[in-house]
Amino acid sequence: MKLKVIGSSSKGNGYALIAENEILLLECGCPFKEIKKAIDWQILKIKGCLLTHGHSDHSKYTKDFLKAGISVFTNEETKQAIEDITGAQFYSLPEFKAVRIGGFKVIPFYVPHNGTPNYGYLIEHKEVGRLLFTTDYEYIPYNFKKQQIQHFLIEANYQEQFIDKDIPNYEHKLLGHASMETCIGAIKANLTQNLRSVIMCHLGAGSSAGKYFINEMQKITGRNVNVDCAVPGLAVEINKDPF
Ligand SMILES: [Zn+2]
Ligand SMILES: [Zn+2]
Repeated sequence: MKLKVIGSSSKGNGYALIAENEILLLECGCPFKEIKKAIDWQILKIKGCLLTHGHSDHSKYTKDFLKAGISVFTNEETKQAIEDITGAQFYSLPEFKAVRIGGFKVIPFYVPHNGTPNYGYLIEHKEVGRLLFTTDYEYIPYNFKKQQIQHFLIEANYQEQFIDKDIPNYEHKLLGHASMETCIGAIKANLTQNLRSVIMCHLGAGSSAGKYFINEMQKITGRNVNVDCAVPGLAVEINKDPF
């Protein structure tokens, strides 16, 4: 399985999980034409798209996805907030109820995001094992150690030490987002022998800090785990087994 990053910031978020015969998209925050390019125009392989929440950097192009015939899945509140299109395949998923989307098994769960209903997703596929995807979260309210997660696509937005809490847009920009320290804490809490990769996403403006984030994370995971930052154009193999 390949993970491709189309966008991963407040400018727009979009990812593709590309298996041999099927594709699952994450987020509707990048133009659909950019998605098509990233998946080499294999549109017929798309089984659906998981949307986390209604903020425009994640949901701006939802209508275009629906118009293109893509099934979009999210929580009820987010679905309500986005105008539906007649005949579109737009679904709300109940929390913790597993749903099959092609060969992907998906379990949604709420993560706190400063009052905005926001889903994280536990995604299972025979090629990838288990991948946990969560972004725009204050903290993860559940522990997934028992699920033995192989891969994380997880927000690390900013570093606490560089934050001036007196700046006027502090609340708007950072409240509801995970710091690098929060992200590291989440990995620590869910760390098992099965961990293969940690891809940090939705980095804030200071994404030049990426190298530092990677180093800090690798102190926790060890060198055998692939740690990376989700920058547009990144393509990484995320497989269940190391070989
Ligand atoms: Zn966002
Ligand atoms: Zn958001």
